[in-house]
Amino acid sequence: MRVLIVGAGVGGLTAALSLHAAGIEALVVEASASLRPLGVGINLLPHATRELTELGLGDAMTSTAIATAEMVHFDRHGGRIWGEPRGLALGYDWPQYSIHRGELQMILLDAVLDRLGPGSVRTASVLEGFEQDADGVRAHVLDRIAGTGAEIHADVLVGADGLHSSVRAQLHPGEPGPLWNGIRMWRGVAEGEPFLTGRTMAVAGSNAAAKLVVYPISIRRPLINWVAEIRTDDGMGPHRPADWNRGGRLEDVLPYYADWRFPWLDVPALLARTPRVLEYPMVDRDPLPFWTRGRVTLLGDAAHPMYPIGSNGGSQAVLDARVLAHELARCGDPGAGLAAYERARRETVNAIVLACRDMPADRVLQTVAERAPDGFDRIEDVLTAEELESIGSAYQRTSFSDAKALNTRPSLSVAG
Ligand SMILES: Cc1cc2nc3c(=O)[nH]c(=O)nc-3n(C[C@H](O)[C@H](O)[C@H](O)COP(=O)(O)OP(=O)(O)OC[C@H]3O[C@@H](n4cnc5c(N)ncnc54)[C@H](O)[C@@H]3O)c2cc1C
Repeated sequence: MRVLIVGAGVGGLTAALSLHAAGIEALVVEASASLRPLGVGINLLPHATRELTELGLGDAMTSTAIATAEMVHFDRHGGRIWGEPRGLALGYDWPQYSIHRGELQMILLDAVLDRLGPGSVRTASVLEGFEQDADGVRAHVLDRIAGTGAEIHADVLVGADGLHSSVRAQLHPGEPGPLWNGIRMWRGVAEGEPFLTGRTMAVAGSNAAAKLVVYPISIRRPLINWVAEIRTDDGMGPHRPADWNRGGRLEDVLPYYADWRFPWLDVPALLARTPRVLEYPMVDRDPLPFWTRGRVTLLGDAAHPMYPIGSNGGSQAVLDARVLAHELARCGDPGAGLAAYERARRETVNAIVLACRDMPADRVLQTVAERAPDGFDRIEDVLTAEELESIGSAYQRTSFSDAKALNTRPSLSVAG
């Protein structure tokens, strides 16, 4: 079986590694002229780090990523609202990792080129369309540099081509563009010593107004990732197509955080020393009624773009990739394998997309801002025990599998 994967992001590259490990041939086409370590920080939950570890990438991850120890919410004055352990500290056998997205992509790319060969990832190659029949798929791919088109034949086509997926567009013609929820996100990485435990992911404020998510992403260098989420009604977000690599302006975001100075972090100083600020609207798409038609399917953000809440985007793409390879190898037939993959994944991930929209944790954080706009001494005077507890259960719904269930579940690895 030969699988053509469209897109060399986290999902596409993990799919290539997983298919190869399962004894299935894979080729990746990527629109970018070259693969560079783009993006800023990203988080992988234990169910995803298990899969990358089983793909033999555990040491590469451990040598750079931060094994996140806790997640803590504060109000915009730095008062501690709620905190909970993460990863190993929650009883998982695998850590939660905070890592630079580009670095993660390069770890995956190096492994793909090493294991599948130097010709296994074709850059500057844009999928323009496909046809399929009972015998296979014909993909039309444009070479952006030569300006020429080519036809690639495969048994299976996997659209791992992200938010603006052209495979999705062909499977679901007429679907509207990404849906914006009114929040703009500025993101960046700046030098800065890790704070609190040194492995803390901190969230301050609430995205009903201004929120900041901040965490270290490297054990090799003192690098802090930050995401500033601002609800705006200036109408600018949806008019600019969502592009993960779009530059943003520090002066647009800094004023919201001018007095956010906590004992453990000077927020305006962190933002001000960020070499490159990026801007992205918080968008997703409605859950799909199907991902697969015959020999063609979707994976990762192409199948289920979601708000970046609870560390799900990259983690779910990794899980998709592993289940896809597992089912194709188990069934031995393209149609049956893809149908089994979709059965295993679509409803589960669609539910996460919807749960991320609901943002119950943010409603509680907003309640804190309303009841104690100038800060508080004791959170127990502001929130009931039930309200506090609801923050943890909100993450439980969007982000976590049961630790024992994950620790004891059989591996998705297939002997190749
Ligand atoms: C440049 C970039 C930077 C990002 N930065 C961050 C970040 O800082 N933090 C974060 O949480 N998430 C970031 N993301 C998103 C994050 O990587 C995804 O949410 C998650 O990892 C799932 O990845 P994916 O492989 O499904 O999609 P993506 O990571 O979006 O990868 C899709 C790939 O498909 C390629 N592609 C698209 N159309 C075609 C086509 N027609 N033909 C061939 N190739 C095509 C794209 O160039 C891209 O490489 C970024 C994505 C990108 C592309």
